[in-house]
Amino acid sequence: MSARVATTCPYCGVGCGVLAGVDAAGAVDVAGDPRHPSNRGRLCVKGAALGETTDLRGRLLHPRMRGADGGMHQASWDAALDRVASGFRRVVDEHGPDAVAFYVSGQLLTEDYYVVNKLAKGYLGTANVDTNSRLCMSSAVAAHRRAFGEDLVPGCYEDLEQAELVVLVGSNTAWCHPVVFQRIVKAREGGAKLVAIDPRLTATGESADLHLPLRPGTDAWLFNGLLMFLFQHGVMDVGFVDAHTRGLNAALAAAGADAGDPAQVARICGVQLADLLAFYRLFARHERVVTVFSQGVNQSSSGTDKANAIINCHLIAGRLGRPGTGPFSLTGQPNAMGGREVGGLANMLAAHMELDDPVHRAIVQGYWSSPRIAAKPGLKAVALFDAVLEGKVRALWIMGTNPVVSLPDADRARRALEGCELVVCSDIVERTDTTAHAHVLLPALGWGEKDGTVTSSERRISRQRPFLPAPGEARADWSIVCEVARRLGFADGFRFEGPRDIFVEHAGLTAWRNQAPGGDGMPAARRLLHLGALASLTPAAYDALEPVQWPLRADGTGTARLFADRSFAHAAGRARFVAVSARAPGNAVEREYPLALNTGRVRDQWHTMTRTGKSPRLAVYASEPFVDMHPHDALRSGVREGELARVRSRWGSMVARVRHGGGILAGTAFAPIHWNGQFASDARVGGLVNPVLDPVSGQPEFKHTPVRVEPFPVRWYGCAFSRDDLPAAPLDYWTAIRGERFLRYEIAHREWPRDCGAWARAWLGAHAADADWLEHADRDAGVYRAVRLAQGRIEACVFLSARPALPPRPWLAGLFARDRLEEADRAALLAGEPPGGDVDPGPVVCACFGVGRNTIREAIRAGTLDTPSQVTAALRAGGNCGSCIPELRRLVTEAHAGSDT
Ligand code: SF4
Repeated sequence: MSARVATTCPYCGVGCGVLAGVDAAGAVDVAGDPRHPSNRGRLCVKGAALGETTDLRGRLLHPRMRGADGGMHQASWDAALDRVASGFRRVVDEHGPDAVAFYVSGQLLTEDYYVVNKLAKGYLGTANVDTNSRLCMSSAVAAHRRAFGEDLVPGCYEDLEQAELVVLVGSNTAWCHPVVFQRIVKAREGGAKLVAIDPRLTATGESADLHLPLRPGTDAWLFNGLLMFLFQHGVMDVGFVDAHTRGLNAALAAAGADAGDPAQVARICGVQLADLLAFYRLFARHERVVTVFSQGVNQSSSGTDKANAIINCHLIAGRLGRPGTGPFSLTGQPNAMGGREVGGLANMLAAHMELDDPVHRAIVQGYWSSPRIAAKPGLKAVALFDAVLEGKVRALWIMGTNPVVSLPDADRARRALEGCELVVCSDIVERTDTTAHAHVLLPALGWGEKDGTVTSSERRISRQRPFLPAPGEARADWSIVCEVARRLGFADGFRFEGPRDIFVEHAGLTAWRNQAPGGDGMPAARRLLHLGALASLTPAAYDALEPVQWPLRADGTGTARLFADRSFAHAAGRARFVAVSARAPGNAVEREYPLALNTGRVRDQWHTMTRTGKSPRLAVYASEPFVDMHPHDALRSGVREGELARVRSRWGSMVARVRHGGGILAGTAFAPIHWNGQFASDARVGGLVNPVLDPVSGQPEFKHTPVRVEPFPVRWYGCAFSRDDLPAAPLDYWTAIRGERFLRYEIAHREWPRDCGAWARAWLGAHAADADWLEHADRDAGVYRAVRLAQGRIEACVFLSARPALPPRPWLAGLFARDRLEEADRAALLAGEPPGGDVDPGPVVCACFGVGRNTIREAIRAGTLDTPSQVTAALRAGGNCGSCIPELRRLVTEAHAGSDT
């Protein structure tokens, strides 16, 4: 084993420390870093499976360029960089700087982000630099700036452990930020109360003392109502409000207009009055309250107002800046925060300065000694792709993100790229729905190879350190950008030798002119973002940098909590209440589209699966795209659980498996965001999401798209397993995921093959000389089964059936672990069910130890287990990352209630 390197997980904004190395066999080994303050050694299942995602399968290893024949061809770095630079130069010369744009990612490191912003805003002269972080947390940014005068997250994770009450709003923390959730659970075990506010009863809500299943989009009424309740009941820190805030009266007037009466609020929000009042009283009664909010608040056409409605409640009660208090925005991506710090949004400058402030522009331009500075905010994500479609933006460089999957109205984004003069993609993956439209592909370094810093949700800067060699010709994103900048004639501003040089320049800018205007006549801008103590880091000190929370004091120590001094970043030092007039989602459900579609993550996948899709362990929990519906809505829509359905909106459609049981309200539906053209035939949920935006933040409304669900009629359903990739087959429905020793395909089609045997042999490659072919066909029963063996070992199998019921997949998966199948196994395969005595373990609940639902139910029943920890003691399930503990709790509860549904 090579020495383990201390680095940081590349997935969610929790920012867990990881110890990673390579063992003698070349396998990547990861463990939680017990010294990292964010996770203290814990990892969730995604972090624990990182070692399964670093292989080079599917990696983009060499630059590629589209040739005159329309195909992509390998190219030299010089040729690719020259083409990017000359293309950008030509477009800027002919159409001006705003005809070029960059669309980047919260996956980039701070150093990568910094140089992109510097190139665009300081050298090309355009602020057309936006990021996929626009899609997940830009409403929180806007709300922070309105309330505090700067994009500042007041608290830290320790506050969650010190709170008496934790309120989770629009945040399935148990799945999306699991390690933070484990800290909350621990606090709850110590006596803290937990309230979950979410239209769905998620794993998070199941763990709460109180779940408020509010009607989608009504959060602002709920928190305006809370503001009024606190005011009416005298729960107000008068000294704080008088001395350190402004705007309360206007906020109360706006809130009182339609949220002054709890009964009315309960009606609007669709919750029981008693539950609403129970929440209001809990909030009023407990001094130490943290309100965590996430995408359920942000991804809304009124996301900024919703976030401010939450912050208003903390301001009136003076509950921030002290241990165990504060509003707390959890970020979705590993470095959304770092991107914000260097101006990674089209409406911001670097180091928390404002694009539309001439003083700030002069400070940044002076620090950079740059030839120009963008004079106005650039295009935010959705508007940026609209401008590409309209031909206003003619050259676009996309870095580390997959907008053809992830943007709302994603088919429009695809059309935009199809017509764009120059599309450049820097990525680690060669084939994505987005790279398919590139003219130039630039291979970037991935996690384990990259070197730099990220900032977590609690403002903690941590190092990502390399422990793997750069594969092929891949290069760091910062280095690629600097090479293009030099070719554009801007060498002076981009003479960086490594990420440390960039980081110290960034740290220096946060301290530059960061004070009240002084006597030297030079402009100044006070910001709380201050990394001055890191501006002179030596290379060795940068390498050794320990996790630290900004702002930094002169001695280099960090700051866990902001606003202890009651001083805010607005000019007068006061925080501001924001008057929030609650409003409904941008598009209402209607007769033709009667369901409100919510989108989000599933427990074990990440974004568009380009990395987590490689991990067999992560594939088992949710192995197909699905649409979760209330049974009544399914009945009304003419679809049944387990069958396929088309989900259709005014913007597009997708096909997914119908599911119940996701704790969903009638009139709503839920579909995950992850599936795309590499993993499924037609499951890009972005294609049907409405492109309605928050007018302040520009964040799209991913949580509320009017849709209808229709049957997707097929003649047969099927599944196939194969040790080797199977060729693409012209099927009406397919999904493909990777298992430990196989690929698993779920398939369906509108017509039976004319000759099932011939079709199956051709698809499974049963022409090999040593192939042993078994098959069973019963056309009357609508059944076909076939197995290909080689030297007694199963190589591939396929099962077709007129009904969705097919053999248990865990059983089939288990057969691929054997060197040889026995006669009983062969017979069972042809019969389509496990041999007698083999218990189907059921769908996997604990991905870390591969424990299935049926196994857990049986253990609970046989062992009369009463708690999740007893289940863990018996089966190990839940004993590693803890992500499945809420589901263990539900299984225990169900068993004790005598239900096995
Ligand atoms: Fe990574 Fe999981 Fe930690 Fe998030 S909670 S940073 S995904 S290990």
